[in-house]
Amino acid sequence: MSEIVGNKDVQERLWYTVEGNRLAHAYLFSGPEEIGKKTIAHAFAQRILCETSNACGLCSSCVQWRGVHPDFLFIVPEGEGLRRNIGVEQVRAARHFLQLSPQAGERKVLVIDEADRLTGEATNAFLKTLEEPSPRMVIVLVTAMPWMLLATVRSRCLTVRFSLVPETDMVKWLASLKISSGEAQALSKLSGGRPGRAKRLLKDPVARKDVIAILRLFTEVIGESSFEKLKAFSVFTKNRTLLAQSRILWLEEAHRDITELPPHTFGLISRLLAVDPYAPFDPILSLVS
Ligand SMILES: [Zn+2]
Repeated sequence: MSEIVGNKDVQERLWYTVEGNRLAHAYLFSGPEEIGKKTIAHAFAQRILCETSNACGLCSSCVQWRGVHPDFLFIVPEGEGLRRNIGVEQVRAARHFLQLSPQAGERKVLVIDEADRLTGEATNAFLKTLEEPSPRMVIVLVTAMPWMLLATVRSRCLTVRFSLVPETDMVKWLASLKISSGEAQALSKLSGGRPGRAKRLLKDPVARKDVIAILRLFTEVIGESSFEKLKAFSVFTKNRTLLAQSRILWLEEAHRDITELPPHTFGLISRLLAVDPYAPFDPILSLVS
């Protein structure tokens, strides 16, 4: 299978646990948005289900993996915008999936993306699954906002922390996508260590322009009053007041230690802005010069 950029230490640790058959019952993949958590969760699942534990691409499980694998379930939030969530019906379906015996091999794997969007009712239903571990099942929760999950959920999972991808790795990887080295450098800076974002920007020149415009604006208003910031950022928002205010809060709070902020405040701001609170400011500021 093709190489996944970044978080090599995490990948090696996970692959080692599959090969050594030392899997935990449930994992919590946490770290900034768009850095490859979901990609690695899928690669992890393929290895868990593979007959030779290394995603060989040849065994019957790997052949099924290319289509719909009967022992793999991937859940994402449903709905639109801020209303997107993972409801109790989705969790019930997942519980049902896990209760049935594996069809192809010895295990079943469930991956829940944006697990912070589980509703209260869904979380309660899901807790029952976490409380009944079975060697037949492996669960992976993926989130950029682990503090939005109940402590009782977090404590039942083995947390795996992911990091932003270093610039040198990003540039090397982007260069392998057959783009010019200048573009690779620019995309690496704009994406701030997030391969997913770099890929998105690569495919979407309009988004790329927006990101550059926002970064320029950010650098222009950094020393201005809140009112000026509000005015400036309103340009980029649909619900002008709420979103712009949130963005200012984010800008002002970003220089503090994020652990000082009430978790829900920060989660809400992050969601409104569709940014993650680990967003690095240094790469952004380096664009000022
Ligand atoms: Zn295989």
